[in-house]
Amino acid sequence: MLISVLETKNHITQEVFLPEIKEMGVRLFVKRLDKIHPLASGNKFYKLKYNLEAAKQSGNSTVLTFGGAFSNHILATAASAEAAGLKSIGIIRGECPAEPNPTLKQARANGMTLSFMDRTTYRKKHEKEIIDRLQEEFGNFYLIPEGGTNALAIKGTAEILTDEDQTMDFICCSIGTGGTIAGLIKSAMPHQKVLGFSALKGEFIHQEIANLLQAHEIPSQNQYALFSTYHFGGYAKHKPELIAFIKKFKQATGIPLDPVYTGKLFYGVMDNIKSSFFPPGSHILLIHSGGLQGIQGFNQRFGETLETE
Ligand SMILES: *Cc1c(COP(=O)(O)O)cnc(C)c1O
Repeated sequence: MLISVLETKNHITQEVFLPEIKEMGVRLFVKRLDKIHPLASGNKFYKLKYNLEAAKQSGNSTVLTFGGAFSNHILATAASAEAAGLKSIGIIRGECPAEPNPTLKQARANGMTLSFMDRTTYRKKHEKEIIDRLQEEFGNFYLIPEGGTNALAIKGTAEILTDEDQTMDFICCSIGTGGTIAGLIKSAMPHQKVLGFSALKGEFIHQEIANLLQAHEIPSQNQYALFSTYHFGGYAKHKPELIAFIKKFKQATGIPLDPVYTGKLFYGVMDNIKSSFFPPGSHILLIHSGGLQGIQGFNQRFGETLETE
């Protein structure tokens, strides 16, 4: 079962050897959470773990969540709910496409019921009126918010770092809703610094993460820093430079990256290595949070040839 796989998994951390890393006198390690399961990005399992447990304990046999048509969270919810013996409903933003993309097809294959919601209603999806309406339509369910970030998600992402990571000086991760970085900050050792690379465009991310940490009472003084300039045009947007980097990195290291989150994160970290942000001797840990399932749909849409594994 997927959930027990997560519980017993000793995550594979590998070192990356590239001339430009050696030249700067630092060492770079990658925690391959993408290896947990092909259908779900690694960080999403951590975010769902305690939520699925809570859903079962609350007596609900169904979980309901929200996401875009290419969402890693949607597919991760479908796959892990199925493994946990729960039914799942995915409320998808926008019109039902004539031909479902690979993400939606796979979510359906994992037993998820898909329902499409127009964008205007979708913006108000967490309001009581909409939730009531969904309850009328689908019956009782355990609600997991879009992107999956809540207190139980952070409890899960606080388990990403383990004792073997104590030798790391910097922990680097991608940021969407912030649930992953919040757990990392919560569990980092005092000598470690967590660096977050936003996949979204905008300076709002600084306030958003500060609010999130405060809401979950996570002390964070000097424990983290955010980078907001590696979004390549915005969420799920890309530029040729990013695609070229992903291909080159795969060729040089064998590690596949996705264009929405991890590609931007790795680009940002490599850029900071080159510009001497990290003091010589630093051990840098990159969290590969997965997202590889989205590549097939990305390639179809943009006529690209990114590798999925
Ligand atoms: C969802 C996701 C993230 C962002 O995680 P948050 O907890 O929402 O910040 C990062 N990487 C991948 C691959 C994801 O799917």
